[in-house]
Amino acid sequence: HNHIDHATPEKVRAAIAAGDTHAHMPDYESLETYRRSGGYETLLNLRDGGDWEEVQDRVLASGLRGLGGAGFPSGKKWGFVRTNPGPRYLAVNGDEGEPGTFKDRYYLERVPHLFLEGMLIAAWAVEAERAFIYIRDEYPAVLGILRREIAALETAGLVEPGYIDLRRGAGAYICGEESAMIESIEGKRGLPRHRPPFVAQVGLFGRPTLVHNVETLHWVARVCRDGPEVLSGTEKNGRKGLRSYSVSGRVAEPGVYLLPAGSTITDIIGAAGGMAAGHVFKAYQPGGPSSGLLPATLDDVPLDFDTLQPHGSFIGSAAVVVLSDSDSARAAALNMLRFFEDESCGQCTPCRVGCEKAVKLMQADRWDQPLLEDLCQAMADASICGLGQAAPNPIRLTMKHFANEI
Ligand code: SF4
Repeated sequence: HNHIDHATPEKVRAAIAAGDTHAHMPDYESLETYRRSGGYETLLNLRDGGDWEEVQDRVLASGLRGLGGAGFPSGKKWGFVRTNPGPRYLAVNGDEGEPGTFKDRYYLERVPHLFLEGMLIAAWAVEAERAFIYIRDEYPAVLGILRREIAALETAGLVEPGYIDLRRGAGAYICGEESAMIESIEGKRGLPRHRPPFVAQVGLFGRPTLVHNVETLHWVARVCRDGPEVLSGTEKNGRKGLRSYSVSGRVAEPGVYLLPAGSTITDIIGAAGGMAAGHVFKAYQPGGPSSGLLPATLDDVPLDFDTLQPHGSFIGSAAVVVLSDSDSARAAALNMLRFFEDESCGQCTPCRVGCEKAVKLMQADRWDQPLLEDLCQAMADASICGLGQAAPNPIRLTMKHFANEI
């Protein structure tokens, strides 16, 4: 079904507008097929007198952490949301806007019901009044699949009509930030909120809200069905669990690779068929532009939560982009800052002005490093949200590891 992976949103929209609703959709697992292998039995059993704390214990035992990038222990979040009186809501973050990330799309286009069942289990666990799914509009096939399958769930009586509200994003990177996404669902401009209060206390429409990434919920269903060992049973380089790495750049076979969480960049490039022909490994972005660029010499670090902090980076959504000797680290870093300048929501000065100023300074023949470092510090310290706080990473890491280019 490679055709869908290469179809542009424009092509898919045109096909759908011409009445062709299925030809451009991948052959995903239908509700019928999913149910035949025991799908939704877990949910039905839980609804029939299950104990939410038992499910929470399972999720905690699995070690599942938020896979949108923040890595917060998923089971703990349920506890926070439940301590706040109802009505409560659940909001699914399917904005997947971090450049180089495409794992949520990968799972939604193949096994949408694992995600939907995981979502309904989480909604049951926190007694959510309603569930909102926020999907980026750049994924028209995913939106089509979800529309169809939510309708099928309603027809099958597995969910009340209208309980799941599917919403489309409108192309803003910042709407992947959870509080900006909530503003967007409320029909407002996507501006991140100050914290506290946290969305678990005051979220959607002022109510306690559980926010989960798509892939996190996919794993909630797997953990409930197959046990915590489905994640905790894998151990490598002292790290437990599995990660879905979205691998792109100068590798032979770009794609999504499910590997042990303790995998190094060497393992990941190996899984992706090695380097593309004629390219020598030079650098990599471990988790989207927010994680900056690391040199090929850092090839023995497990790419997992917490392991990259000592190197001034983080795994984020595990969007691994591989650069080769044909690429300029300096040009890549400038490209990342241009992206942040473009996508900054503009509500706080350190980020709005800082990104613009950084782009200007990075265009100079020689980078003014002390001035750039001052700017990075101000942005990291004083920005409201993760965009402005992480935007200095590509600048700092390029100064540290690719000094000869700047
Ligand atoms: Fe907006 Fe940037 Fe401030 Fe975040 S850090 S709130 S994106 S201006």
